[in-house]
Order: sequence, then C-alpha cells, then structure tokens
Amino acid sequence: MIDRKTSPLVDFHCHLDLYPDHAAAVSQRDREGVFTLAVTTTPKAFPRNKELADRTKHVRAALGLHPQLVAERSHELPLWKEYLPSSRYVGEVGLDAGRRFYRSFDDQKAVFAEVLTSCADAGNKVLSVHSVRCAKVVLDMIEAKLSPGAGRVVLHWFTGTPSEARRAAEMGCYFSVNLAMLKTDKARKLVLSLPRDRILTETDGPFTDGATNPLRPSDLTPTRDGLAAALALDPDEASDLISANLRALLN
Ligand code: MN
Repeated sequence: MIDRKTSPLVDFHCHLDLYPDHAAAVSQRDREGVFTLAVTTTPKAFPRNKELADRTKHVRAALGLHPQLVAERSHELPLWKEYLPSSRYVGEVGLDAGRRFYRSFDDQKAVFAEVLTSCADAGNKVLSVHSVRCAKVVLDMIEAKLSPGAGRVVLHWFTGTPSEARRAAEMGCYFSVNLAMLKTDKARKLVLSLPRDRILTETDGPFTDGATNPLRPSDLTPTRDGLAAALALDPDEASDLISANLRALLN
C-alpha cells in the first residue's frame, strides 16, 4: 500500500494577533503545519506579526490597513508604505460600503488606490482584499491599478454576485472561502460558480463563528470538509486542490 502524504491545510486569512495569546497561536499553527496568512489590521501591528512569522515555516505575515479602520487610521498610510518592501503579503486591505463604514468610503477609496499603486510599483505582491457591499468598485479599482502581471489578488469572504465573481476570475483573482460562505444555499451557489483552480480556504478567525479554539488545526477541517462536500470531492482531494492552488498563486 502506498503511504499517501496528505496536503497541508490552508488558512489564507486569519487574524492570529487578535487571539488572546498571539505567540502561542502562531507556534501552534506552525507546529500543526497549517499554512496561515496572518493578516493585520494596521501597519503598527505588522512588525510583531512579522517577527513571529519569520521564526516559522508555515506562517506568513501580511501588511494591512483595514478599510473599517481607515476613518481613524488613514494617517498610518506612510507607515504602511515604509514597511511594504519588507513584505510580499499585503492585507487586510480593501473597501467596506456597509452602513457602519460608509461615511469613510471616500477616504477608504483614496487609501486603497494608494495601496494598489504602491503594490503595482513594487511588483510581486499577494493581496488579501476585503470587498463588503462594494465588489464592483473594488474590481474596478483593481482593474485600473493592479494588472495581473503586477500583483496577485485573493478576494477574502467574497459576497458579490456570481457575475461579479466571474469578472474577478477573468481578471485573475483568487477567492478564499470560509465556513460562513458554505452555510446558506445562496452562498454555496456562489462558491460553486467559482473556478476550482482559484479557490483557497480561510477562517477569518476570530471573526467567524465556529472557531471556538483557534489553536487547533481542526478549525480548518470543517471549512475544508464543507468545501469538499460542496464540490463533491473527498476531503483529501479538496486538500490537494487547495494546496495546488496555493502553489500556483505563490509561483
Ligand atoms: Mn478579516
């Protein structure tokens, strides 16, 4: 019998620094071999995330400026730019047109435009992008400022329409799918409309339900299994698919 090596689990969007013990969360993920993109919400949080991630094999830190924080933190954009050369990964960035954040939407657009332009200038960046209630605007801006050759975009917790998803895929975007996106028929339908070779998994911990203990790899297992069920794959086949997609994204 051939001893089959299982592909590692992937969490392409997780806020490890928002868990009670950040360092423990990072080392646990590493020990368990879960590829984890540790996104940050402000550039001030980046150095510590980078320091911890750099000691690991499986955790990577991403440099973010969260759209929901732009109202109070847009003055940190120069700091974000200062750190950009030290990070291949960027996130969480993007736009949020939800009711609570709509007031800062113009500022968000100004910040996101600079983020995209800086990434295009630098080249070879991989971005985890938030697009709540404004998929069209986010895609318009990416199309205008970050061509597929200049950087890679992963749309995190995408809730646009199937036709917006198709447009994003045509633009070269990837999608990180979490459990919440597998819970309703409508959301599952969207996931099913995505090209299989563009799908990754994420937890968005600690913001999603069901992540009772962020320190165990089992937190990714329900997402991987839910995705496998939606795509009519075995769990191992789903893991292989996600790993292959991750390799393609990072190549
Ligand atoms: Mn997030």
